[in-house]
Amino acid sequence: MQHTIENLLNHATTQLAQHDQPRLDAEVLLSYVLGKPRSHLHAWPEKELDATQAADFLALVEQRVTGHPVAHLTGRREFWSLELDVSDVTLIPRPETELLVEQALALLPAHEALQVADLGTGSGAIAIALAHERRRWQLLAIDRSINCTRIARGNAQRLDVTNLNCINANWSTALADNSLHAIVSNPPYVAMSDPHLRRGDVRFEPLIALVAGTDGLEAFRSLLGEAPRVLKNGGRIFLEHGMEQAEDVRNLLKKHGFTDIETCRDLAGLERVSQARKPA
Ligand code: GLN
Repeated sequence: MQHTIENLLNHATTQLAQHDQPRLDAEVLLSYVLGKPRSHLHAWPEKELDATQAADFLALVEQRVTGHPVAHLTGRREFWSLELDVSDVTLIPRPETELLVEQALALLPAHEALQVADLGTGSGAIAIALAHERRRWQLLAIDRSINCTRIARGNAQRLDVTNLNCINANWSTALADNSLHAIVSNPPYVAMSDPHLRRGDVRFEPLIALVAGTDGLEAFRSLLGEAPRVLKNGGRIFLEHGMEQAEDVRNLLKKHGFTDIETCRDLAGLERVSQARKPA
């Protein structure tokens, strides 16, 4: 096989046929090896790669065939049009989590100096997207994992986001009473026994970022135990959850005294984010 861009992409797409998006995976890996955007691949299909580049690409494709997530192979994932470093210590940011960012941007005042916390920030995706969009807000990006805190801090620095503090702590101890205008969180919410954990890319992600007890609601319980204390009166909370957890999450919000409880659907039409307000 001549190692042209087109030949290599076709070969990899066939190799990756059992994955959801074989062509996209192949293109992302090849543009990573070449250090060029995907548009370069479309513009120069007949261009030939040197032997090292071709070997590097084929080795990555082989790893992808065995299941490794593309984001782990490249160390990068785009979220909210921002390139984030990720690794196997963080959850790989998901496109559906952008709904959480959209809701917070839609409901919180844009031009006030708000204190907003992202609890369980991982790679920093949510906090960085919000800090990037709203320079007057001050974001607290909190994670109990020091490895995640380092990655989030590195991402914020590389993307020049300065209105954000990364804090390595438990969310129960890190926050003062009545200190926040809003909480935004994509906590772990998968049940331990969920077969989803044994399929596809999630097998390579940290369980600590995915699993929340036997029913998947443990992190919501602990988070909502603290939220009324740390939010200011009238403060808002935005939570991502599983597509079948909306009612449970709304009930927990109600139980902890929240009002104006609403759920939004993601692009796939699934109930994905619930939001509420602490009484003023
Ligand atoms: N949405 C993720 C998944 O289905 C789970 C993310 C999370 O637990 N916060 O794998």
